[in-house]
Amino acid sequence: MSAQPIYEVLALRYGTHQDRPARMNFLTSDDHASLMPLDYFVWAIRGPIGSANPRTVVVDTGMTPQAVEHRPGRVVLNTVEHMLARAGIVAADVADVVLTHMHYDHAGNLDLFPKAMFHIQDAEMAFCTGRCMCHGVLRHAFDVRDVLGAVSRVHSGQMQFHDGTTDLLPRALPGVSLHLVGGHTGGLQAVRVPTARGWVVLASDASHYWANMRTGNPFPIISDLPRMVEGWRMLEALADGPDHVIPGHDPLVRARFPTLGGDAEIVQLHLPPA
Ligand SMILES: [Zn+2]
Ligand SMILES: [Zn+2]
Repeated sequence: MSAQPIYEVLALRYGTHQDRPARMNFLTSDDHASLMPLDYFVWAIRGPIGSANPRTVVVDTGMTPQAVEHRPGRVVLNTVEHMLARAGIVAADVADVVLTHMHYDHAGNLDLFPKAMFHIQDAEMAFCTGRCMCHGVLRHAFDVRDVLGAVSRVHSGQMQFHDGTTDLLPRALPGVSLHLVGGHTGGLQAVRVPTARGWVVLASDASHYWANMRTGNPFPIISDLPRMVEGWRMLEALADGPDHVIPGHDPLVRARFPTLGGDAEIVQLHLPPA
């Protein structure tokens, strides 16, 4: 990709759920004993590298400390604002935030980004404000405070809607695109980014762990099972290899990619994994 602008992509871990049974992470599991920790991340895209006007896009905004008060085991290790600052990113100055989907661990903390335009799929806003939210089994991973915050951004002119596959900001961030996947929620979107090692795809919760898509066994929060399993094919087609699809919650991400300046909570996804 000689003429293709390239970007830096970071995964920033802000939380974790250590004492989590493995059976919570798969639709079907006979494993009643072992633990399988789950990490919580936000992501950042910076570039184009070498550009006179590089920009920073934050992908997802993490959970609020309040959201985990009634969710045992989930721990906010550091605030999202603090983690972004450790990567040199001032949340209050960020101009663009992608919301992959509206679950509580991805779309809290919108107030940290007063200047931002938020980017969401039409189908996700419809899902989290529509009739599906009448059902506890579809609603439980949303926090209504986050949903109200997103609706208020619509009315303040700070929400940009996308439908399907679109370029995020074609002039400012050439090559960075959004892809409607669905499956996990009504309008989950993945983000595709050109990097020095090829096309990297931030899958978010289209696959919580590499193991979900590699074994064909989905994480058990599902809005549409056929779309979820087809989504894995889409992610694979968009990425330059299996290590280029970045799952949403896998501790292996932090174990495999190089840290940012030795900070163990931030890894560089644009560099080859170990
Ligand atoms: Zn989710
Ligand atoms: Zn999640």
